[in-house]
Amino acid sequence: MHHILEMRARLLRWYDDQGRTLPWRVRPDDRARGVVPNPYAVWLSEVMSQQTTLAHATPYWEKFLAAFPTVTDLADADRELVLSMWAGLGYYARARNLHKCAGVVRDEFNAVFPTDEKTLLGLPGIGPYTAATIAAICADESTNIVDGNVERVISRVFAFSEPLPKGRKDLRALAGTLVRDERPGDYGQALMDLGATICSPKSPTCLLCPWAKFCAAHKAGEETAYPKKDKKKSTPVRRGYAYVLRCGDKVLVEKRPDKGLLGGMLGVPTSAWGQTPDDHSAAPLKRNWQRVGDIKHIFTHFELRLEVFLAEVDEPINGHWVEDTSSLPTVFRKVVEAALRP
Ligand code: SF4
Repeated sequence: MHHILEMRARLLRWYDDQGRTLPWRVRPDDRARGVVPNPYAVWLSEVMSQQTTLAHATPYWEKFLAAFPTVTDLADADRELVLSMWAGLGYYARARNLHKCAGVVRDEFNAVFPTDEKTLLGLPGIGPYTAATIAAICADESTNIVDGNVERVISRVFAFSEPLPKGRKDLRALAGTLVRDERPGDYGQALMDLGATICSPKSPTCLLCPWAKFCAAHKAGEETAYPKKDKKKSTPVRRGYAYVLRCGDKVLVEKRPDKGLLGGMLGVPTSAWGQTPDDHSAAPLKRNWQRVGDIKHIFTHFELRLEVFLAEVDEPINGHWVEDTSSLPTVFRKVVEAALRP
């Protein structure tokens, strides 16, 4: 017990001095001056920064907050606009849920973003990590915040021997033994910062770590042996064809079906993704295609390899033509670049 209180005190002191300053974060000194976090802005930041770096997510967060300063603005926005502004962040189901969640908050919560963990968990696209984080930061609820960074720190400190993902539930419970009522938001953010900066995956700087004296992995000199992981199965590969039809500066795109990967997003026409297709029935023209390159894109559960074909027409055929392809999902931007690169 004494041990845990000392660990918490050291971590919070470290956070006060060295925690990261982030645009959506209220630092302890500002909090002491009465500044309160905006749950809508915190939610946006959490949804956007999953599975990517903060450096990549931050400009999106700024762009969204400028375009939609309140949750009602986001809910009222056209879904296509929201999806196109999300392009490049990946995991498009998240963007669809973001818009849906804003609608629920507007319609069922009087446009006031909830801040208690239980209610948050009932909202579209909000899982245990995001709910715990918003509740701790915005409502001082002593929740158990566990993201990938926290898993790494906790597994090292306790030399947690069960491999992930199977051991995840127990690891979470272990992280929960450190939770107390004092400064829950700062504690959670401190722990995430420790994992994101000092306790890095490959080369933790234990000399600077406020928990070095308590850390079992460090004592054994085996920091990077944790978290233990089940052996990875090799990533499956899917293949397909992508068709870039060009007319002057414009390219033909189509809206992908709502269900399925990149659902609702614009993209160039492609065949189905699976085995290499044996015909070109998905091509928007029946002739004049030239094979111009290949691209590779990694999704969460598979690697996609597309053969890229290009054709040109003098007059646009029926369909949706765009000049600016920067708001297409990354995989389609790669296809267009492969087709049009000089
Ligand atoms: S001592 Fe090293 S391995 Fe242990 S928590 Fe700190 S940085 Fe991570």
